[in-house]
Amino acid sequence: MTIPAGVLAALSAIVGPGWVRQSDAELETYAGDGLPTHRSRPGAVVIPGTREEVIRIVRELASHSIPFVARGAGTGLSGGALASDDAVLVVLTRLTRILEVDPANRLAVVEPGVVNVRLSAAAAPHGLHYAPDPSSQTVCTIGGNVAENAGGPHCLKYGVTTNHVLELEVVLPDGGVATLGSRNGEPWGPDLVGLFVGSEGLFGIATRITVRLTPVPTAVRTLLADFAALRTAGEAVSAIIRSGLVPAALEMMDRNCIGVVEASIYAAGYPTDAAAVLLVELDGADEGAVAAECAEVELLLRESGARTVRVARDEAERTRLWQGRKKAFGALGRLSSDLVVQDTVVPRSALPDVLEQLEAIGNELGINVANVFHAGDGNLHPNMAFDGSDEAAVERVERASAAIMKVCVAAGGTITGEHGVGSDKRRYMSLMFDADTLGAMHAVRLVFDPAEISNPGKVLPAHACREWKMGVAS
Ligand SMILES: Cc1cc2nc3c(=O)[nH]c(=O)nc-3n(C[C@H](O)[C@H](O)[C@H](O)COP(=O)(O)OP(=O)(O)OC[C@H]3O[C@@H](n4cnc5c(N)ncnc54)[C@H](O)[C@@H]3O)c2cc1C
Repeated sequence: MTIPAGVLAALSAIVGPGWVRQSDAELETYAGDGLPTHRSRPGAVVIPGTREEVIRIVRELASHSIPFVARGAGTGLSGGALASDDAVLVVLTRLTRILEVDPANRLAVVEPGVVNVRLSAAAAPHGLHYAPDPSSQTVCTIGGNVAENAGGPHCLKYGVTTNHVLELEVVLPDGGVATLGSRNGEPWGPDLVGLFVGSEGLFGIATRITVRLTPVPTAVRTLLADFAALRTAGEAVSAIIRSGLVPAALEMMDRNCIGVVEASIYAAGYPTDAAAVLLVELDGADEGAVAAECAEVELLLRESGARTVRVARDEAERTRLWQGRKKAFGALGRLSSDLVVQDTVVPRSALPDVLEQLEAIGNELGINVANVFHAGDGNLHPNMAFDGSDEAAVERVERASAAIMKVCVAAGGTITGEHGVGSDKRRYMSLMFDADTLGAMHAVRLVFDPAEISNPGKVLPAHACREWKMGVAS
């Protein structure tokens, strides 16, 4: 362990001895997140109970130039919340207070450790909810959502996390405390909230988060359509988007994924002989308008070649259809000891071609690639189950991931839609960005964190950093 004893003692004095973790077994607990291919044991773990403690911790670490990494629930899928043995992991899961729900101004103020779904539950008595709904929402924290700019099935219509954050209190890497944005509307100056949301912990730790609350839609229709070919399902997505309708959600699952879900306790009644299913949801405040949109979508699905289209008859059927989608990752987890959930985006019009290419990559490498994803956003999630103790299998999965990134970037897409770059995708950043652009990102990082102690080794590729410092552009 490389964290000096004096610093550990100081951290204990701040949070109380029970909240600093140092034993091998304890550190091992925090060595991974939701991505099984990357692991790293932190030098120590500290679990503050208040924002004041977070501030004192960061000041203590900054004064010794000791790196630190913020961590929420650890459900991240890009190895973002991992710390090396010279760094301290600052776990925020005790900061769980919902400080304010203000229905008049449709906003809430929360601590970063609040679990996503709890916020909507707290807002529900006012007919409001927090719209971004990652499939991990029963576990992941709002702080983690802010750092990753999390999305979710209903973000197609409602927008991702960045569209819902009004104000942030942030402990900067030098221990300063900044307020970004404003709960009272657009503040003057640069959009620092926009900069911080999605910055993956590189700019400091969010300690207070003010978010927008959205009315719970009173009219909802959920449709399930199934297709004999993946390409046809992809074309149906394009047809819906082209029509100008904006469904609340437009999700796709392929044959591999359907089979696994239907064999699990989350079975939703998806047809197992289908090449793909689409789950489409329409919502709003006007029952008649939503019913009309539903009829329009049903027609588009049938014209695009859907074999059958089913509209959920009641809330119980709707919940069941959604449970199969939201718990698909859990069902896939039954296939093997490890599961990589990849994350890319392609233009929606490229979906049919790209899906076929992903299938070919899986066949070539002998990997079962199961797709469940936010089709309306073109946000793909190819899932690969494997045995992490089998080195050859791990290598095949890594090769498949690299091939998937290249295919998606070549199709005009990006290397991540919502799971972030973290440790995993630094190696793919140069597929997307040239040296000057990466240099600009690095320069912004240095404004917030000149010593580069907040979540080091993430997002920005290291070799490129050296090139920028030498002023070499490729
Ligand atoms: C089954 C499953 C389904 C998922 N579905 C989705 C989905 O639909 N959409 C989606 O977007 N993601 C999804 N994810 C990924 C993950 O849940 C999200 O990235 C989530 O936002 C991470 O939150 P967390 O609290 O677990 O953060 P962590 O994993 O603990 O941390 C993630 C990153 O945030 C940083 N961080 C955490 N808290 C703070 C803070 N207070 N201040 C600054 N930085 C901080 C960490 O340093 C790290 O870089 C899924 C994951 C799983 C396992």
